[in-house]
Amino acid sequence: MNMIDLNELQLRGEKSFVTRRPLPPEKLDALSRNILAIKRKLNAVILAHNYQVPEIQDVADYVGDSLGLSQQAAATSAEVIVFCGVHFMAETAKILNPKKLVLLPDKDAGCSLEESCPADKLKALQDTNPNLYTIAYINCSAAVKALSDVICTSGNAVKIVNAAPRDRDLLFVPDENLGAWVMEQTGRKMTLWRGNCYAHVEFTHASIVRIRDQFPGAPLVAHPECTRAVRMLADEVCSTEKMVEYCRKSPATQIIIGTESGIIHRLRRECPEKTFIPAPTDNCRCNECRFMKMNTLEKLHDCMLNQFPSLELPEAILKRARLPIERMLEISARPIENAG
Ligand code: SF4
Repeated sequence: MNMIDLNELQLRGEKSFVTRRPLPPEKLDALSRNILAIKRKLNAVILAHNYQVPEIQDVADYVGDSLGLSQQAAATSAEVIVFCGVHFMAETAKILNPKKLVLLPDKDAGCSLEESCPADKLKALQDTNPNLYTIAYINCSAAVKALSDVICTSGNAVKIVNAAPRDRDLLFVPDENLGAWVMEQTGRKMTLWRGNCYAHVEFTHASIVRIRDQFPGAPLVAHPECTRAVRMLADEVCSTEKMVEYCRKSPATQIIIGTESGIIHRLRRECPEKTFIPAPTDNCRCNECRFMKMNTLEKLHDCMLNQFPSLELPEAILKRARLPIERMLEISARPIENAG
């Protein structure tokens, strides 16, 4: 067995081996201070996904998963929303706030799940069966959301699927792994779109067995975008926000984290006394999402300074895509027993 060095693994939570050069401390300080000053001037809120680089997380008003970020976007009174995540997340914020300026550090930060499900192909499938009820994971384009009955996140997918009408044929898009996990949890049969997260499917049964052998006392918490072969080795399968909760409550002092390594920064802040071990992959050091890591502190600064790039969507899409997102937020807010 190739032993994996814990120090090297832990570094992966703090810096990207693919895209990032660390900023000199004085530049980091100056940029962070400027960002906060521009934020006050614009009356802006900075929302950041758990997978963002540490220096972005550190200047954000809120760091969380897709569900938390949607809830924050729906509730904010700020005039400008600066969204540090990927494109579909900024779209969701715009759909919930059509009159507000929504800025994003890099307009090209996409997502393999979003790419896997083009709206025209989804429409063609829907046309084959008028009884389909389409549940779309939030990791999809605004055009796909506009074709869907309800949206879900990994944090509320079980609740949303449980609340789906019993007399309809359920179609789950675009993540086949999340969809399969939700079927296991709910017992509801669904047709699954064949899409996946390229970063989460890099974790394999073999790579997880190796790390578990190396740290036999450490529980594994994995994201439901992982394959079943990985999920079956996990002590807990949940969204990134629930991972934070799991790690806070777990008596374990070492925990293996089966998701994108950006979450490690948040976990270290929340639980400084614990050691988090990013789960390795088989072939590379790529337990990070190249799309999420396209955002940098410099790009965040520049997009706020120039108020560009901003997110624009056609009126018809804005209007139609809002309905399934609002339905998700409404079901999500129901007490568990009334979710059905
Ligand atoms: S981690 Fe996967 S699902 Fe999330 S943005 Fe990256 S490619 Fe998409």
